[in-house]
Amino acid sequence: MSARAFSTVRLVNGSTGDPVLYLDYPGSNNALLFDGGDNGALSIAELGDLEAVFITHHHIDHFVGLDRILRANMDKDKTLHVFGPVHTIDRVIARVRAYEHQFFPFQKLAICIHELGEGTHRTATLECAQRFTAAPLAVEDWTGRVCYSTDDLEVEAVAVDHTAPCLAYAMAERSGFHPDPEKIAAGLLKPGEWVQEALRLLRADAPGGTRLEIQGGSFTLDALAKQYFVESPGARIAYVTDTQWTDETRPKLVKLARGSWRLYCDSYYARKEAKNAATHRHMMAHQSAELAKLARVEQLVLIHFAPRYAGRYQMLVDEATEVFPRVTAEF
Ligand SMILES: [Zn+2]
Ligand SMILES: [Zn+2]
Repeated sequence: MSARAFSTVRLVNGSTGDPVLYLDYPGSNNALLFDGGDNGALSIAELGDLEAVFITHHHIDHFVGLDRILRANMDKDKTLHVFGPVHTIDRVIARVRAYEHQFFPFQKLAICIHELGEGTHRTATLECAQRFTAAPLAVEDWTGRVCYSTDDLEVEAVAVDHTAPCLAYAMAERSGFHPDPEKIAAGLLKPGEWVQEALRLLRADAPGGTRLEIQGGSFTLDALAKQYFVESPGARIAYVTDTQWTDETRPKLVKLARGSWRLYCDSYYARKEAKNAATHRHMMAHQSAELAKLARVEQLVLIHFAPRYAGRYQMLVDEATEVFPRVTAEF
């Protein structure tokens, strides 16, 4: 079993709206977003904290929110990573160029677009300072599952089987020290740059007596570690949506979700709709539960309920719970 996640984990539109998952770490601008659908429930400040966006595919319910993400980050001096399946580079470039931009000199945003498919990882960077002109394309082999890696975590991707090229993702936190969001929320110090600084020192095994000056006080690294951080093997969170559950996808998805603390999984249809599920290449709620069971996850969160079940969503939860006990949904 994976440890709990030491990040803010928010299913932005619950189980019934466009599937959107927002992960944040307190005190730093390194939020992650899984899927680019309707993100109107996230503030511009929350979207402005994003470091990377992982789009599953380009159907409108998974891609319409890209404009707000661009808007929230337009004045930032940073690199924003946007991942997706084949055609992501062209489609993101088309969206960025759909607008007239004013190009103020202070705008330093770079958008690094990553396209994953058929053993290749293609990257193109669009720089605001270069007026979003054509970016040189870099092509690397992509043989494993890892597509993104930082000091805090890795993100893995696999191709799934939908009516459009589509990816499923998993985020794995590295083992070691992590900020504890509950302790930070309850603590006297406000989250700020000190969180990253203390984290860097803890991960570098700096002496416990090292002192940090924070918000007018002086604190030892030992005291900060105890009060605000936690050492853990790191949590895994899997995000799977818009795919069929077939002999071909099953082993890939089980591997991706294996041991997750939480699996967010496509539960578009009820058991009776097997025909529709095959035509539109979605999962049924009980299949999500089969994946949760095979992958031995701690918790299954059902997402992407079809609107036809409005008023009777509990049916989907019940069908999943017959197969796997630890199911939740928000509706
Ligand atoms: Zn779709
Ligand atoms: Zn969808």
